[in-house]
Amino acid sequence: MMSPTHTATGVVLATPLLAVAPEFAAVGALAGIAGGIFPDLDLFVGEHRKTLHFPVYYWLFALPATLLAALSPSAATVAFALFSLSAAVHSVVDWFGAGPEPRPWAEPSDQAVFLHPRGQWLVPKRWVRYDGAPEDLVLTGLLSVPGLLYFGGSVRTLTVAGLVVGVVYTAVRKRVPDYVDI
Ligand SMILES: [Zn+2]
Repeated sequence: MMSPTHTATGVVLATPLLAVAPEFAAVGALAGIAGGIFPDLDLFVGEHRKTLHFPVYYWLFALPATLLAALSPSAATVAFALFSLSAAVHSVVDWFGAGPEPRPWAEPSDQAVFLHPRGQWLVPKRWVRYDGAPEDLVLTGLLSVPGLLYFGGSVRTLTVAGLVVGVVYTAVRKRVPDYVDI
């Protein structure tokens, strides 16, 4: 899935805070956005979908961090919980798309995301055929609803920015491999 889908998911994960701890909702949403981006930094360092994607291990942080945030809510505990939850969800959700190959629609790979405890790659589900596919943009749009309606300030601004990036990326996606050597 493309980055705007993951960042919008981070905001969705923070949305329940509006009901239970509204004073930490914005910081939680911003941490969720950061956690949605973080795993894909392995595009630049190490091996993409392996070095910073942990479909299992992030949960070892995310679940205790969520418990800690519930028991002792503060900006720091909520931010760490949302960051790690969002990174964990990102790493699992990539399994439901295609692999990291440049042209998933033409030359599909069988490597979606690396499952470290088993030392092997998960095979892509392709429920979303490739990152930047029209259905990926639909997902971004749906997941952006809480960020647009229930949040203000920088969360709403970043949600709008994510939507713009998503629309542009979807529009040019199939031409990207012609210009970028990835
Ligand atoms: Zn990813």
